[in-house]
Amino acid sequence: MSEDFYDVLGVSRDASEDEIKQAYRKKAAEYHPDVSDEADAEEKFKKIKKAKEVLTDDEKRQMYDQLGHERFEQAEKRGGVGGGGAGGRGRGQGDPFGGMGGGGQGSPFEDIFNQFFGGRGGGAQGRDRPRQGQNLRTQVSLDLSEVYEGVEKQFTVARPERCSECNGRGHPADADVTTCPECNGRGQTTTVRDTPLGRVQQTQSCPRCDGSGETVSETCSVCGGDGVTREEATLSVDIPAGIRDGQTLRMEGEGAPGENGGPKGDLLIDVSVRDHDAFERDGDDLYHRHAISFPKAVFGATVEVPTVEGTTELEIPAGTQSGEEFRIRNEGMPHLRGRGHGDLYVQVQVVTPEDLNQEQKEALEAFAEAGGEDIEISEGFFEKIKNSF
Ligand SMILES: [Zn+2]
Ligand SMILES: [Zn+2]
Repeated sequence: MSEDFYDVLGVSRDASEDEIKQAYRKKAAEYHPDVSDEADAEEKFKKIKKAKEVLTDDEKRQMYDQLGHERFEQAEKRGGVGGGGAGGRGRGQGDPFGGMGGGGQGSPFEDIFNQFFGGRGGGAQGRDRPRQGQNLRTQVSLDLSEVYEGVEKQFTVARPERCSECNGRGHPADADVTTCPECNGRGQTTTVRDTPLGRVQQTQSCPRCDGSGETVSETCSVCGGDGVTREEATLSVDIPAGIRDGQTLRMEGEGAPGENGGPKGDLLIDVSVRDHDAFERDGDDLYHRHAISFPKAVFGATVEVPTVEGTTELEIPAGTQSGEEFRIRNEGMPHLRGRGHGDLYVQVQVVTPEDLNQEQKEALEAFAEAGGEDIEISEGFFEKIKNSF
């Protein structure tokens, strides 16, 4: 039997909770140590139970999918012994870079460990344990000019919020709360079934109270008992100048609400930077192709080239070759969280005229006759133009 929880239960990775529960019941009946003759039935039964326990818990399952089997098990072990508590969250409030690129504080999964396994040491297990809310992800698209300046960007995100009607309880304040008669408050029920192989006893989350151990006379009409509603929130985030496509900002405490008084999760903002017509970006440097006429390439000229915020002048020396590149210092993108800018590289493309009028034609013919057809290549000619992009 493979160790992988999905394999253990024989379900696909996108199996619904019902499918998982069903598969579990089947497997559990098959391998229950009381009924199975197989020598390692008990071991297998434990695995089946464990697999079901993880895969029917939304958070744990998400975790499992993210980490994979081995790291999940390691993480779980860590969480079970650690005494670190929630103190590991030392990032400065409001610093959007807190979580960037792994945050520089050890494992990028540290947060997730804390979130899922609490790091709280034994004892505090169970459904009443305060848990931090899920991290949410959203995307913000920016123009190059916004990135150049840095910008406060507004965006909307649909996210779960604590239901304001019932304040997250899931039922009106005056509803009667009673101990669940089905499970007597334990949150679990045990059923004994007779199967062809004998009696099988199984424990499952109480279907009546959904594992809470309590029933209420009335559920909240707004959230339907979840204690959570989905709301559109308009937020703004400070985009630091120089941020690059694909980087992620973190807004602490803007994620999903925590459970049982736990803190809110974070909101992760994936930044995408739209392509610009005039520039290609490589790190903090920008590249621009600039077309010039044949006479300007021959005689040299001062040309106007675009920058992100306007224009600047570039001196083209006489005898410039098509494909030659010129660097304009400090006209690139700002260095992120630093001083100064990258550079702007301008690659010159000499335009061969396609439609000549009679006068131009004659002039060019005269040029050719005067020896203009002979090609003379200066030293380093190909070195000068090899830098094409
Ligand atoms: Zn119950
Ligand atoms: Zn409600």
